[in-house]
Amino acid sequence: MAEKPQPVRVLYCQVCSLPAEYCEFGPDFKKCKPWLIQNAPDLYPDLINESSSNEADKVADQLQSTAISSAAGDTATPSGSTPAPQEEVKRLPGGKIKKKEKPEVIIEKVTRNKRKCITTIKGLDHFGVKLTDASKKLGKKFATGASVVKGPTEKEQIDVQGDISYDIVDFITETWPDVPETAIYLIEDGKKVSAA
Ligand SMILES: [Zn+2]
Repeated sequence: MAEKPQPVRVLYCQVCSLPAEYCEFGPDFKKCKPWLIQNAPDLYPDLINESSSNEADKVADQLQSTAISSAAGDTATPSGSTPAPQEEVKRLPGGKIKKKEKPEVIIEKVTRNKRKCITTIKGLDHFGVKLTDASKKLGKKFATGASVVKGPTEKEQIDVQGDISYDIVDFITETWPDVPETAIYLIEDGKKVSAA
């Protein structure tokens, strides 16, 4: 007989708090891996093969760090060309990962046409902020539309309708005390300006 349909149940990663299937798009997939192997092996069958073979592990690590650096945007190097094992990410004892890059929140005003303007916010997820939650709060606070969208580098960002780039820094630091003002940057006329 046919199998009963399973109720849909979302498994949240306890490392990055994204649904487990999105970990690979999350801020630090490497940190999630051990947890995923334990708790969601079906979602990432490759991880198990990867961890059972040192050679494959190395290759995967290289691929992974390429993926991380290109996803980070600005400082991305062209991928694939250099076989040198340049580690972007340092592995600390206990499997902890140390990133060279400091996490940042980038706020940019984008004018779609003369009257329409949106403010994009990138990087809140680096500080453990849930983007869907943040977008709701922003929409409510500024009484406007806000949504989580995929940016050009496939990273998720929040788009808020209207120009809120001046009020938003205070709102972020008040709402999410984990985000220091010094980590917030505004893009103004193509220049990156610290909000602090
Ligand atoms: Zn995760």
